[in-house]
Amino acid sequence: MSHSTESNAPVYRIRVAVPVRLYDFFDYQLSAEHYAQAEVGARVTVSFGRQQLVAVIVEKLPPDAPIDPQFKLKMITELLDDRAILHPSIMSLLRWAAQYYLFPIGEVMHAALPTLLRQAKPYNLLARTWKLLNVHAEDQLKRSVKQQEAYKVLKLHPQGTQETILNLASVETNTLKALEKKGIAHCVLEAKDFTPTPVQLAQMPLTANEEQKKAIQSILKAQKKYQGFLLDGLTGSGKTEVYLQVMQKVLEQGKQVLVLVPEIGLTPQTIHRFQSRFHCQISMLHSGLNDTKRLQAWQYAETGKAAIILGTRSAIFTPIPQLGLIILDEEHDLSFKQQEGFRYHARDVALYRAHLENCPIILGSATPSIESYQLVHQQKLTRLELNQRAGSAVMPKMHLIDLKIARKQHGISEQLITEIKKCLEKKEQVLIFLNRRGYAPVLICESCAWQANCPHCDAHFTVHMKPYMHLHCHHCGTINRIPDACPQCDQSNLKPIGMGTAKVEESLQEIFPDFPVLRVDRDSTSRVGSWQKIYDQIQTSEPVILLGTQMLAKGHHFPYVTLVAILDIDGGLLSVDFRAPERTAQLIIQVSGRSGRGEKKGDVYLQTLRPDHPMLMLLLHHDYRAFAKQTLTDRQTALLPPCRYAILLRCESRSQQENQHFLSEMANLLRQQSEPDLIDIWGPIPAPMERKAGRFQAHLVLLSTDRAKLHFYVRSWWQQVLHSKTAYMKISIDVDPQELN
Ligand SMILES: [Zn+2]
Ligand SMILES: [Zn+2]
Repeated sequence: MSHSTESNAPVYRIRVAVPVRLYDFFDYQLSAEHYAQAEVGARVTVSFGRQQLVAVIVEKLPPDAPIDPQFKLKMITELLDDRAILHPSIMSLLRWAAQYYLFPIGEVMHAALPTLLRQAKPYNLLARTWKLLNVHAEDQLKRSVKQQEAYKVLKLHPQGTQETILNLASVETNTLKALEKKGIAHCVLEAKDFTPTPVQLAQMPLTANEEQKKAIQSILKAQKKYQGFLLDGLTGSGKTEVYLQVMQKVLEQGKQVLVLVPEIGLTPQTIHRFQSRFHCQISMLHSGLNDTKRLQAWQYAETGKAAIILGTRSAIFTPIPQLGLIILDEEHDLSFKQQEGFRYHARDVALYRAHLENCPIILGSATPSIESYQLVHQQKLTRLELNQRAGSAVMPKMHLIDLKIARKQHGISEQLITEIKKCLEKKEQVLIFLNRRGYAPVLICESCAWQANCPHCDAHFTVHMKPYMHLHCHHCGTINRIPDACPQCDQSNLKPIGMGTAKVEESLQEIFPDFPVLRVDRDSTSRVGSWQKIYDQIQTSEPVILLGTQMLAKGHHFPYVTLVAILDIDGGLLSVDFRAPERTAQLIIQVSGRSGRGEKKGDVYLQTLRPDHPMLMLLLHHDYRAFAKQTLTDRQTALLPPCRYAILLRCESRSQQENQHFLSEMANLLRQQSEPDLIDIWGPIPAPMERKAGRFQAHLVLLSTDRAKLHFYVRSWWQQVLHSKTAYMKISIDVDPQELN
């Protein structure tokens, strides 16, 4: 084919986003027939370099547009979808997010698809339906209880049942396959049904109190148009009932509702509340699902079959054609910000999405972020207050324990031990919070003061006792054995210092031998289902001591807990991070909110070396809002986020000199290119942990009051940074960073 004969014939071209770390789109050619079928937001496979990649169509170029005859475009390999699976509003959202967070568009679009659709799988994967072949097979199943159970369930449904539904009924796919092997059941592949299912009320709404009514009415006034609300409600004040009643009205109009929660652990209780209020299809989207289930949940959202879409952070990018409401619960939670790769904040993306889709959005929290208070202050969010605890529950009473004067056993004050004892004897539950997993944070030699440090990081090794004794670096994952003697002085005087959850578990078990101690942290709940088991035990009214890390602070409902204790809050009070007081205050209020949610009043004990700290004084009276107001004023004075917009450039290399040299050069480049006094540049500064996994880290912090201009100058500068970096360097950019490490 020569160029001259072709130059007048129409050339059909599309522009696509390819999942590679490049900031451009790429053009491909396709047949007239495919061109007619192709829609923006559909997938194609294209050859890119030596690979075959799944790309998303972002534009159809007009066939008569002039082309450069020198430039021969490749043909696409395959058109995978006959319609847009990423709808126009999602495409706009993804393009905005890629630009705002300075991340390659192809990777952003790729991340928005479920794994199976990233792998060139056809959209309508067939559903697996199981049927019984032999209905008199009882005798063959005597040896397996699981198979008997599966058989019983199948027998109830002679027409066949979908595998996903069977899985929900705790019938495992492996059990079904075992039945298939025995010739008792078989699997039929059927096309999935995406017809929307009607929504019905399963249970009457509760009677809303005056505050709840006011909140519900304000939100409902904003239907079918964008408006942002901050539902600022004390723990236990009935935010969920407000969500449910607003959802009901939105669902009644045939609209879909997107609900985001900070972590997977919260999805079962949330889904349970939705299911007991509404009969409808609910899609659940989180990282704990296998690929097939995730695809199905995504498709139910995308086709409009699911009325409610419940998910964690990344669910914000799910296509939802009839979106009528977004709810983001526990909006202050740090898990909404992705901390690596595509570093978006789901709360900010959600606000932008509500704007694009013209629907209301509710951000809910008992301890709203300072960012959200700033938006209220700027009149970009409407604040709704809930101040009464539901039912007869009252706010728990706060007590400070001065660790400087208190008598202690294993780091727990005797006063606290006495109170715990009283509580357990009354058959009530206790929750103890310590944000440090492992056995002890340091191993020290008592003869020469040597400390066991990670050879690759500026950090102590954490001592772990189970499943075997070892040293573990929580920053790079290095594991070492515990030396028999001190490597420095050769004495056998090594001693773990300080306490982690595993050690406190041991101490509590010793002090209270008659009561179960349930430990909840990443080490104890890593096995699937272990958290659920503990959770079920908490829901019985038996007296137990619940001990855990951050995982326990989040939105859980523990009706029988009446005593909450935080063993060590001083780390948060002393940290150099300007957000540390905010996080500590949120933690204290959230953890104490787990107490006294039932009929009985609760107590909260905080152990501290700084009982006179002004923040603690405010929180003692549950006055998070006064604290937040003060914090916002402080940030205004200090010109810190959210009163200025921030972008963080992280640089990692073989030496701190290399980082310093490169970052200084880049800082100068930005100074030359932007307007005088527009961008305040801090740094280069070494990261709080300078050395991590053997590599050195440093930062540049960019601050400005003018977000649009800051982004404008940084966008082109970032491309230059990428081109200037050396091969040994790893750099990343974080827009609106939440952590400066
Ligand atoms: Zn020593
Ligand atoms: Zn390390």
